[in-house]
Amino acid sequence: MSAREVDYLLIGGGLASANCARWLREEGAEGEVLLVGRELEPPYNRPECSKGYLRGEETREEPSFRPAQWWKDQRIELLTGTTVTKLDTGARTAALSNKQEVGYGQALIATGANVRRLPVEGSELENIFYLRTLGNADAIREGVEEAEEVVLVGGSYIGCEVAASLTKLGKRCSIVMQEQVTLERGFGSQAGRFFQHLLERHGVAVYPGEELAGFAGSGRVASVVTASGLELAAQAVVIGAGVTPDLGLARRAGLEIGELGGVACDSRLASSAAGVFAAGDICEYESVVHGGQRIRIEHWDVAFNQGKTAALNMLGRDVPHEVVPYFYSVLADWGELEYVGPAGEWDEEIVRGSTAEGRFTNWYLSGARVVAALTVGRSDDLEHARRLLTAGVELDEDAKGSLADADADLSRVGG
Ligand SMILES: Cc1cc2nc3c(=O)[nH]c(=O)nc-3n(C[C@H](O)[C@H](O)[C@H](O)COP(=O)(O)OP(=O)(O)OC[C@H]3O[C@@H](n4cnc5c(N)ncnc54)[C@H](O)[C@@H]3O)c2cc1C
Repeated sequence: MSAREVDYLLIGGGLASANCARWLREEGAEGEVLLVGRELEPPYNRPECSKGYLRGEETREEPSFRPAQWWKDQRIELLTGTTVTKLDTGARTAALSNKQEVGYGQALIATGANVRRLPVEGSELENIFYLRTLGNADAIREGVEEAEEVVLVGGSYIGCEVAASLTKLGKRCSIVMQEQVTLERGFGSQAGRFFQHLLERHGVAVYPGEELAGFAGSGRVASVVTASGLELAAQAVVIGAGVTPDLGLARRAGLEIGELGGVACDSRLASSAAGVFAAGDICEYESVVHGGQRIRIEHWDVAFNQGKTAALNMLGRDVPHEVVPYFYSVLADWGELEYVGPAGEWDEEIVRGSTAEGRFTNWYLSGARVVAALTVGRSDDLEHARRLLTAGVELDEDAKGSLADADADLSRVGG
């Protein structure tokens, strides 16, 4: 018997855990809820780290999931600055870094992801940053204070958002990336080109097809060097090279790991161990809205909604996770994208509206089916995308024509 017993143990101090805690209470859970998180802060919304908070437009409290009093009112115990070091799913116990052992009835594992580090020459120089936490955002703000030129390594949404935010702070920003076009890995070159032009119009220099070779400088970074021989002056660097799910605890606990590199779960987000659910960046699940296909996604909205589904299933509701994954990204006040999917692979793109006017939807089709949609300024299209994606409807040429027609009534498409 452990020194302490709780009904619900939520492992990880991010959004997935926080929203799970919230929905446990909203749906009437009476028992003890303990949320254990490694970071010092109570759960917060990470997206602000590259947006308003990075630009200094938000206080430290604004990204919080909920104010401090809310956790007390909800009788949810928050153990921050604490790591779960061991999970014994047979005995249903967890060991914590504060030397406590906790027995649990049901557990959520939501340990999130860590940034992928690039071990190139000169990585030890000062003023080279990665971005995952509020603390990282503070360090970047401080590090760029004296900098005129900042290089962003990576052309995905983190690199693009940070370039936009730091440009707003008066820095001259360049993006160095392997891709030919920003954001093309997730959204293809057509949509990516729109965002690249948006960045360039605001003064961001973009260097495509470049492989990072290393950093030069003495003590502090002075330039970024690529394999092709390009050398860009930089007094600060921010690297956005993707993340890897934090599976250390899950592996040690013997949880099944899926082919996509996440904790393998069924459609209810139940892992291979009885009483253990997973949610957020580490969760690989059978998605009913994708015909049972396994998916794993590192997006805010997914972590949020999976936290809720996990809570419902901890309460025995036996519900599949049926939310179509949604993603958004904001480039300062220049533009914003919304996306439902994920497409993974597609063989046709159809544009609705005008990229020149900055109001369009990009439909992604695999065969004759809509598998994703990205929109700028046409949010209403996302409802149709969700419906078409979930129904898996095969579209004929007429229906495809409607997707391209900015004035068509899409409620008739695929009906
Ligand atoms: C700068 C930035 C901007 C972003 N912007 C967007 C955006 O615009 N749109 C979007 O859709 N998504 C965005 N995301 C992604 C989104 O924030 C993540 O998908 C989401 O935070 C995942 O939540 P999570 O709870 O699964 O994991 P995390 O947020 O990673 O939380 C997991 C937590 O668990 C802790 N932990 C790990 N192991 C243990 C352990 N053994 N014991 C205790 N605690 C542990 C970690 O320290 C961490 O605090 C952004 C991410 C970043 C970093």
